[in-house]
Amino acid sequence: MDEFELIRRYFKRNSDAYGVVAGIGDDGAVLAPDTAQQQVQVIDTLVEGVHFPHDTDPADIAYRAVAVNLSDIAAMGGRPRWMTLALTLPNANEQWLESFAAGLFEAADEFDVALVGGDTTSGPLVVVTVSITGEVRPGAAVLRSGAKPGDAIYVTGTFGDAAAGLRLLQRGESNDDLVQRFLRPTARIEIGAALAGKATAAIDVSDGLAGDLRKLMAARGVGGEIQIERLPISDALRLAGSEEQQYQWALCGGDDYELCFTAKEDAVANIAGLTQIGRVTRSACLNCTLNGDVVEVNDSGYRHFQ
Ligand code: ADP
Ligand code: MG
Repeated sequence: MDEFELIRRYFKRNSDAYGVVAGIGDDGAVLAPDTAQQQVQVIDTLVEGVHFPHDTDPADIAYRAVAVNLSDIAAMGGRPRWMTLALTLPNANEQWLESFAAGLFEAADEFDVALVGGDTTSGPLVVVTVSITGEVRPGAAVLRSGAKPGDAIYVTGTFGDAAAGLRLLQRGESNDDLVQRFLRPTARIEIGAALAGKATAAIDVSDGLAGDLRKLMAARGVGGEIQIERLPISDALRLAGSEEQQYQWALCGGDDYELCFTAKEDAVANIAGLTQIGRVTRSACLNCTLNGDVVEVNDSGYRHFQ
């Protein structure tokens, strides 16, 4: 199967997608963005053995590659529109490609994003780069830099599931809610779009809540205080380890792809699915408490402050 045939068979679909004048098959895609909107551009690469285990189901690799990009669009308050895919493969295995394309279009269809082009090359490892263009109302994009002292700090969904899931996956378990949370992160597009023009700052949590919240605070030179006991923990995670282990996964485990953002409480009072975990402060550090006790949180977990 040559490259042309591969693209035609697995990636080219007839569609009348939003704003697509010319899609796959030309030297470039021609798009007709809404001129009354601003565009949000994101890109992310997943490398075999680095971002996913070697034996990961190709449908999950593809779904995840799309989802992590959607998550960046969500964090900016945008709506995803168009996607390109650069795919490097050691060989063109039909079964692998079929599964990969199924996962890719599952995510694309779920979030209404059109695949409009890409590049296919051979190389020693599977490398998947997805780029997505989204749209957002002018001036409404949520940047990292807008947190103000006194703003409330919120998160979406539950935390720690993906980190626990990755551990289970590495032990060979796959049919588990927690594993699914790692393999198929839920991009918070609807909540993200609802936050446009309302949240003061936002980040999607890929590297762990404590670290990513510190990035959000640092972008403005402010600090924060959070109450660890407020962190949303799923029922599945509660069954997976001690309370200390749960909080450790929730604070320091990556890959949840939930949103963490700051806002005035009034501005987001009508949005469902949020948990307030703390508040932005003037000091330039993140203070964490657990049931009133000050605890120190670093990359490997937390400990009670002596
Ligand atoms: P060129 O020779 O102009 O670089 P290619 O042969 O790489 O073109 O690609 C032909 C067409 O197929 C282009 O429209 C390109 O965007 C699209 N394409 C290539 N690889 C992929 C892919 N993995 N997914 C989606 N579209 C792809
Ligand atoms: Mg060309």
